[in-house]
Amino acid sequence: MTQHSYDYDFFVIGAGSGGVRAARIAATHGAKVGIAEGRHYGGTCVNIGCVPKKLFAYASDYGPAFEDACGFGWNAEKPSFNWTTLLQNKNKEIERLNGIYASLLQNAGVEVMDGFASFVDEHTLEINGKHITADKILIATGGKPRRPTYPGAEHTIVSDDAFYLEKLPEHVVIEGGGYIAVEFAHIFHGLGAKVTLIYRGKQILREFDSDIGAFLTSEMQKQGINLNLEANITEISIKNDKYQVKTDKNEDIKCDLTLSAIGRVPLTENLNLDKIGIKTLKSGHIETNKENQTSIPHIYAVGDVTDTWQLTPVALNEGHCLVDRLFGNKPERYVSYENIPTAVFSNPPIGTVGLTEQQAKDQGFDVAIFKSTFKPMRHTLSGRDEKTLMKLIVDKKTDKVLGAHMCGTDAPEILQGIGIALKSGATKADFDATIGIHPTAAEEFVTMRSAVSE
Ligand code: FAD
Ligand code: NDP
Repeated sequence: MTQHSYDYDFFVIGAGSGGVRAARIAATHGAKVGIAEGRHYGGTCVNIGCVPKKLFAYASDYGPAFEDACGFGWNAEKPSFNWTTLLQNKNKEIERLNGIYASLLQNAGVEVMDGFASFVDEHTLEINGKHITADKILIATGGKPRRPTYPGAEHTIVSDDAFYLEKLPEHVVIEGGGYIAVEFAHIFHGLGAKVTLIYRGKQILREFDSDIGAFLTSEMQKQGINLNLEANITEISIKNDKYQVKTDKNEDIKCDLTLSAIGRVPLTENLNLDKIGIKTLKSGHIETNKENQTSIPHIYAVGDVTDTWQLTPVALNEGHCLVDRLFGNKPERYVSYENIPTAVFSNPPIGTVGLTEQQAKDQGFDVAIFKSTFKPMRHTLSGRDEKTLMKLIVDKKTDKVLGAHMCGTDAPEILQGIGIALKSGATKADFDATIGIHPTAAEEFVTMRSAVSE
């Protein structure tokens, strides 16, 4: 395919979600493709993100599940938990996946290079002292945790480290109120640690529907997680082998571990972007247009290094659509950013798709709100005081469902299907005409008859 004397038609920097998908598909379309990876094949999601996080969340769910089983007649001695076993088994699985990602690339005919890539000029990259050239280049280098800057911030860990702790802390202080803070609060609490979550705002999960944030807050508090809201950490120090966390509410909290989960920043530091003049936004993300082109048209960027939704399926789709357009003769393939479903693996978990009530109102929709809060059937016998919340936002003018939100067992699994319905433009009448699957929690989505507000 190469007409110039470049080594590659397409070279990808970063073998994470977006990069691996783009490289593999470009190669199957017939392009000569290379990829460089500086750290771990599969990127953040596979190594220090979605996958190990979900494995830890499964581990954490067994804690309450053992207790719940008693109401169903099971009798067992108090179970004990071994952190080292979990860590070793998790590491083994991640190593297996690493290998799979590397061989997926090789089997597709992609040339794989271990090492960080940096720009020498607009068509040349340096990897481990070796220069390679490419006609088109994709930057898919992802992101890294934002680090706090108050005195003693060097004592706090970030999510990258949380996957490799030598032992489970007795008391962990988590800073932040977003996805990672809430998910790790669930993980550590379920495994038996005391958890204090410190968040600067009034309500965690600010970008989610406010009923969902309030509902999860109350469920977490019922479980004994300490939510310290409208508070900021001002200093961390060490005293008598414990961390001492000071807040701007004059608190002094002793703990064994602090985890900062205050967002992520794009990872561009090894790339030498300034040398070739690729433009970045104020946030540091690489600026791109609808074609995923950077300010240099034959250099593209996808995934977390750009200002997009920081989700694996989004990075995968951006990479896939890009190379379908470039090498697959599919000029109409673009990612649709409308109605992207997402989940938080909290306890109970959240699944959501479409507009929040506030977003719908801000966009001028006249909305009807359908809401249902109930005790899941499992907890009638388990005795656990846990509820489920479901909510639909409906446009009164067209009857279209604009948003669906759930906090409750299996919400991420349920919302994937609801996502298809919203993507297809389903109306509330379509939901109502759908026969439920009984007995499930999901059937509540098709039986919410009267609006709670309109
Ligand atoms: P990445 O997957 O980060 O890949 C970038 C790769 O580039 C890395 O392997 C890096 O080593 C490499 N690299 C960087 N610079 C260079 C260089 N100069 N040369 C060579 N290689 C380089 N998303 C979900 O959808 N669901 C979840 O449940 C979920 N959970 C998450 C949990 C955590 C704790 C975190 C941190 C993230 C989670 N995410 C989740 C987000 C998801 O992981 C990211 O959105 C996704 O990995 C982004 O993919 P990417 O291809 O943009 O970058
Ligand atoms: P989020 O953006 O979800 O949350 C960041 C949190 O940190 C917010 O509560 C924010 O507060 C707070 N914050 C930001 N800056 C500061 C600061 N300087 N001091 C104190 N608090 C601060 O980021 P995460 O780090 O939790 O996760 C990064 C991204 O990774 C997510 O946005 C998501 O896209 C992805 N991810 C996805 C997951 C999934 O799909 N299940 C799981 C984990 C991560 P405020 O709201 O007030 O701004």
